[in-house]
Order: sequence, then structure tokens, then C-alpha cells
Amino acid sequence: MSNNLLQVDKLNTKIFHGDYTVDAVCDLSLELKEKEILAIIGESGCGKTMSMLSIANLIPQNAKVVSGQIIFNSKKLNISDEKELQDIRGSQISYVFQDATASLNPIFTIGEQIKEMFIAHNCFSPNKAKESASKVLELVNLKPAQKYYNYYPHQLSGGMNQKAMIAIAVASKPKLLIADEPTNSLDRITEITILKLLKKLNAEFNLSIILITHNISLIENFADTIAIMYAGRIMEKGLSQEILHSPKHPYTKALLDCLPKKGKELNAIKGSVPNLAKLPSGCKFHPRCPYVMEKCLKDEPDFVKISQEHSVKCYLQ
Ligand code: SF4
Repeated sequence: MSNNLLQVDKLNTKIFHGDYTVDAVCDLSLELKEKEILAIIGESGCGKTMSMLSIANLIPQNAKVVSGQIIFNSKKLNISDEKELQDIRGSQISYVFQDATASLNPIFTIGEQIKEMFIAHNCFSPNKAKESASKVLELVNLKPAQKYYNYYPHQLSGGMNQKAMIAIAVASKPKLLIADEPTNSLDRITEITILKLLKKLNAEFNLSIILITHNISLIENFADTIAIMYAGRIMEKGLSQEILHSPKHPYTKALLDCLPKKGKELNAIKGSVPNLAKLPSGCKFHPRCPYVMEKCLKDEPDFVKISQEHSVKCYLQ
């Protein structure tokens, strides 16, 4: 039997904009084992967030998961059963959004917001919920807990609010935490602190994590596996060390080429991310690809396994 916590097969999400429709997520397939950390990487506008919102059933009202299958914790989820998906999301899948300060409720203290999670999801009494909230504050290094319990979001820095969001997210003891650009707009030191905190939660609680990021430099030594997304599709996925040190897809290579290197000029990928409403024909990366061939213009390549753990969506394999 598979030890996957999450298995997604050919998931498709559309966004409806009155007179036109956007294929925001196209044939998304991925697996996540228990305790695995997967990083979803790509430039802004590549469909990373919409893919994960589709899994967590948090898509906007004008979007719909139209086909595909999600198996979570050995249970096949009915993607059209709103209630079932909501129950799973509330108790077993937690989502941390990128703007923590905007996600927290400004009129309640951090402690009260965590306490509410314990009452709602664990049916704790108010006293037990308060005690548990204090323990979670300690866990995410907001110490001393008595002090931070009574702070309002506006009294904390962006990094501290992100820790508070993570505390709220783990209060329901989820099996999967999806963290959407949790270090966006934080300085480098705070960024590392947040990643260390996620790694600690992963190790101590066997928590599986999906980290969405546009910053490929962040994930070495953090993620076990990587999926590279472009135009709502996964272009390459595999073990992180393999992808980082032996990338196969031209888009992955281009992302890695953009990392700052000592003594070298900073590179940028030519062109821009395509508008999902006006995708190019054939391979969606072809307008930016230095290796484009005739057939790339007409037909989209399949997603092909090149080893047990490594798959690529490109003709050049
Ligand atoms: Fe480039 Fe063609 Fe591969 Fe697309 S399929 S990434 S255009 S070589």
C-alpha cells in the first residue's frame, strides 16, 4: 500500500470571467509522503497558489475544480462535495497565506485567535484552550507566551505575525501544512527563522509541508522534493538535490541561472510569464525557450518519467 499522504491525479481548475474562461490549473498530478516537504516553485503567475488552493478547497467563487482526483490520508475526496472538503481542510489541512498581517484578525489578540482554533477544532474548554494556545506560542518561539498572548497583530513585526499564523495553522494538529510564500517581504534572517521553524514542526510532529515559493534559492536543505510550475502545469518534479544539481527542463535551468553567483552578472529569464487566458500553442514555455524546435510550437509534450523519482515535460529528454 502506498504511504502517500496526498495523491493528486490530473486535477483541472478553471476560472470563469464572464465571457471567457481561464485554465488556471492543468492536469496537476503530484504525490506527497507523510513527513515529506515539497516545494512548489515558479515565477509569480505560474499557477502555484491556485493549484494549492484547489487542493485545500479555498478557490475563489468564480473558480471550479472541474476534473481530477484527490486522495488524502487514504481517502478519496469527492471534489464536488463542498462539506467533506471543508471538514478535511479545517482539521487535517492547514493553509498559511503569504500576508500574515492581513490574514490575522486585527481586533483579537494573537493568543485569543489561537485559543479559538483549539475550541473550534479540538472542542477544548476555554481554560484548556488558553493553556494550549500558550504552549503553541512557545513552540513557534513567541516567548514568553504570556507576553505575546496579549499582543494584537499591529504590535508585532511581519515575521512575528507569520509565526502567529503558523501557530494558528498547527493548533488543529493538521497532517498537511500548505505555506504560501510565507517568507515573502521578510528580511533574509527572518526568512531563515521561519523556514527553520517549519522544519522543526516537520521533524517534531511528522507534519507534511508544501511550500509555495518563487525563490528557488530558499529550498536547498529544506525541501525533500521539488515541483517546478509554469502556466498552470508542472514542468519538472523530483528529488530536490537532483533537480537543483541536475535540472532537465529549460525552465528549471533558467530559474537556476537567475540565482546570484559571485563575480557574474545577474541573469533574468527573457520574456514574461504568459497570460493564462492567452496561452501559446504547443509547449507553453516555447516563446522563452532557447532550445525551441518546430514540434514545440505545435504539440505540448507529455510529462515523462526519466527515473523513478524524476519527471519532465519537455521533448529534450
Ligand atoms: Fe523548450 Fe521544446 Fe522543451 Fe518546451 S518542449 S521546454 S520549447 S525544448
